[in-house]
This record gives sequence, C-alpha cells and structure tokens, in this order.
Amino acid sequence: MGAEDEFDIVVIGGGPGGYATALYGAAAGLSVAVVERDKVGGTCLHRGCVPAKEFLETAAVQRTVHGAGEFGIRVAASTLEFSVSQERKNSVVDKLFKGLTGLLKGRHVTIFSGTATLQAGRRVEVLDGDDAGRVLIGRNVVLAAGSVPRTLPGLPVDGHWVMTSDEFLDLKEIPGSVAVVGGGAIGCEFASLLSDLGAKVTVLEALDSILTGCDDDIVRLITRCFKKRGIEIVTGVQVRGHTPEAGGNVTTVHAGEDNYDVEAIVVSVGRRPRTEGLVADGVAVQIDERGFVVADGYQRTGEPGVWAVGDVVAGTPQLAHVGFAEAIVAVKGMLGEPVLPVDYGKVPWAIYCHPEVAFCGMTEAQAKAAGIAVVTKKDPFGGNSRALIVGDTDGVVKVVAEQLPDGSAGRILGVHMAGPWVTEQLGAGYLAVNWEAFPEEVAHLMQPHPSLSEAFGETVMALTGRGLHVG
Ligand code: FAD
Repeated sequence: MGAEDEFDIVVIGGGPGGYATALYGAAAGLSVAVVERDKVGGTCLHRGCVPAKEFLETAAVQRTVHGAGEFGIRVAASTLEFSVSQERKNSVVDKLFKGLTGLLKGRHVTIFSGTATLQAGRRVEVLDGDDAGRVLIGRNVVLAAGSVPRTLPGLPVDGHWVMTSDEFLDLKEIPGSVAVVGGGAIGCEFASLLSDLGAKVTVLEALDSILTGCDDDIVRLITRCFKKRGIEIVTGVQVRGHTPEAGGNVTTVHAGEDNYDVEAIVVSVGRRPRTEGLVADGVAVQIDERGFVVADGYQRTGEPGVWAVGDVVAGTPQLAHVGFAEAIVAVKGMLGEPVLPVDYGKVPWAIYCHPEVAFCGMTEAQAKAAGIAVVTKKDPFGGNSRALIVGDTDGVVKVVAEQLPDGSAGRILGVHMAGPWVTEQLGAGYLAVNWEAFPEEVAHLMQPHPSLSEAFGETVMALTGRGLHVG
C-alpha cells in the first residue's frame, strides 16, 4: 500500500460533521482524507438546512409583497414562478458547494469518492464510485455518515403523491393542497412555506401538539398563528395510509377516523442514521438497536481511534451546528488537548417557520419536572417598537430562571423566543444560558433602540424585579 493512503484522520461522510472534522483537523496540521458517496456538504447543504431556508425566504418575500399595501406601496397581484425559486436555490447551493470544495482543497484535504466501510485496524475500504477499491488507513477514523428521512408504513415514497424532504426540496411547483405528516421543526417549516406560497396545508401530528420539545407558551403561540393563517393542525392522530383517486390529481389521506383529500403528502417524521454497512463485523463500534453509533461525550466509540460525530451519533440533537461542535471535540481529543464535551441541553435551536422559533436551555415544564423552582418573565413583541415598525408583531420572548430561596431569580436556565428574526436574536440568550448568567449580569447590558433584541433585554430586566417596560 502506498504511503499516500495513510492519513492522520480518515473521515467517512462529508456532511457538516465530516467536513468540520476535516477543516478543523487540517487547520491543526493533520493530514485528512474524506470519503463521500455523494457530494461534500451532505444533507445540510444539498437536501436540508440550506435549500429549506432558501424556500422559506421565497415565502418571506411573498409575505412582504402581500403586506406592501400597509406601507402605502401598491403592487399588482403577485404570481409565483416557483421554477425561478428552484433555480435560485440551486445556485445558492452550488456557490456554497464550490466554496466548501475549494476550502477543503485549500487545506489539502483529500476527497475520495465512493461508499466506505470501516474494517478492523482502522482500514477504510471504498466499495464503489470513482475510488472503488482504495483502502485508506487512518491513525484516527471518524464516522460521520449522517442520516436519511424516516418513512411510514402505509405511505411509501413515490415522489409523486408521497414525498420526504428529499423530494419536496426538488419540487417543480407548489401543489394546491398538502398534508404534512409530522409537526416537528422540519414539518412546521414546510407547512409555513407551503401556506405562504398558496397551498392549503393540513398538519397531521401523532403526538398531542406540534413542536414537542419547545416551551408550551411557544407551542401555543405558533399553533394560534398557524391556525390564523389557515393552516389546519390535527394532533393525536396516526396516519394509516392514502388512496389516490383513480386518474385524478387528488389522494385521500387516512388519519385516525378521518380522511383528508390533498394533492400531495410530505412525510416529515424524523431521520434515521445511515449505518447500513458502515462498520464491518469484528470492529468494536457499538451500533444501538435504532441503528445509531454509540459514542461517549468525547465522541469516542468503543473501538480505539474511531470517533463518531453528527446525526449518526445516538441520543444527540440532529443539527448541523451540533455536528460542527462534535467535530471540534473529536479533533481536540485526537490531539490530546483539553476539551469539554458538547452540552446537549444547552444547544441553540432555530426553526425558520413564520413566526420563527429559537430557543436554548430548559423549558419551564422541563425545569419543573427536574424539581427546579423557577421564575419566568415574558415580553410579547406586540409592544416592541421595531416589531410594530416592520409590521410583524406575533411573538414573545420568555426567559426561565431558577428561583432562589428568597424568591428572586437566579441562573438563567432557558430562553425561548418566537417572532420576527428570533433565529438571529438567540445569540444573547444562548450566551446567558451557557454562562449560567444571573439576570442582573445581563440586565445592565444595553440593547440598541429601537430593536427587536430589546424584548430579550426587557424580559431579563423584569427578572431582576425591576423592569422598564415589562413588569
Ligand atoms: P449528513 O449531512 O447527513 O452527511 C452525511 C454524509 O455522509 C452524506 O453526504 C452522505 O452521502 C455521506 N455518507 C453516508 N454514508 C457514507 C458512506 N458509507 N461512505 C461515504 N459517504 C457516506 N440542521 C440545522 O442545524 N439547522 C437547520 O435549519 C436544519 N434544517 C434542516 C432542514 C431539513 C429539510 C433537513 C432534512 C435537515 C435539516 N437540518 C438542519 C439537519 C441537518 O441537515 C443535519 O443535522 C446535518 O446535515 C447532519 O450532518 P452530518 O454530517 O451528521 O450528516
């Protein structure tokens, strides 16, 4: 075997977890190879975060145009040319793909094309693709194979009636009516953009509410806003299957005791790890019963020198930035540098539906369930000057703090936001939660006026017992 086939790190999978490992490892002077079966950038760039947000931006532009009359700007009735939005999405993805490929090349990361399997002795075999037959040996191997959409029995994906996010993001036009099966983050983003772009949307959710994991006040607010926009939300319902109308353009979705006639169904019920064939027998990497790779807080698997990052890891949030953070932990571990594990209870979450949702840390219910007495304060965007100026006032900021024995507010445990641009505002809340800041420590810091971020400042100030605009 040639010396060129040995690397400090061999990464399997070039999504956010894998490419972050490669970039960070290479920045530290390590030699790195990435084996990718499709395109570097992974789900996030090609079938996830970026394309979904691109379409949500199309939806936001549509809302702005529809609301222009309020500002005295008369526009003729707008029409949607979705093919143009698709082209724009593809061009954004392409630019980012080229940028990422250039960045990896610039750091001398070698990219191999094909599907890889990890064999004993940290030997990575490329099974197919342009580099089929290559064997790479890593002083460290990182499993970053990511995830694929889950499907449901009774709803086989055919790309016509039934789609997952993969097919949805390649749609040529927006259907007139859509059932979104699953009301989690991705389902709510799809429901929101479809509704803005003119589809009649029904969200069918098996659990008792949409957006489980979010604070109850935020869930109530988003549910109310969605319903106000005409999005039908049906919770506590199991989808059993669908029956297409013979020769027609409608299919009937069977959910619980009811039926819903729609032109398309988007299944958005989570993602499963892509671990089939990833690890050969005899390698001590543990795969759990759901197919995820088991790793400790330092991203180490049971096989010495083999690490795992990103969506493929068991029990961790499936978010691109979590993959980035885990990659850094893994590389620092390889280098023997001091490192803190990712604190999964304090990662920032952002959901780009309208109104947007962003949060970090414990919800009020989670804190109470953990036996922690809490003090909470809320500031609705309805009274915020910038929100009124931009004409987008549905939303609230809620801060959950630990209650001290004297009844006052101690550590900030959770920051929960819904409203205009909150995905860009969460930064301050993320820092407060992760620094375990007390309200006084944050409240004396100013927020610019007039700004949406004043809502966070006001809420924290109210927690000190003396608010300006919030009591
Ligand atoms: P992936 O991105 O899935 O990448 C894994 C890569 O490994 C793939 O390119 C795959 O081809 C390759 N691969 C797999 N097996 C092999 C093998 N054996 N050999 C070689 N290559 C292999 N996250 C956010 O943080 N923010 C968002 O707004 C957001 N929005 C999303 C919207 C949608 C519609 C979806 C579907 C996901 C979204 N996510 C979002 C989640 C995010 O995309 C994932 O968390 C992220 O992509 C996970 O990165 P990863 O590197 O672990 O895996």
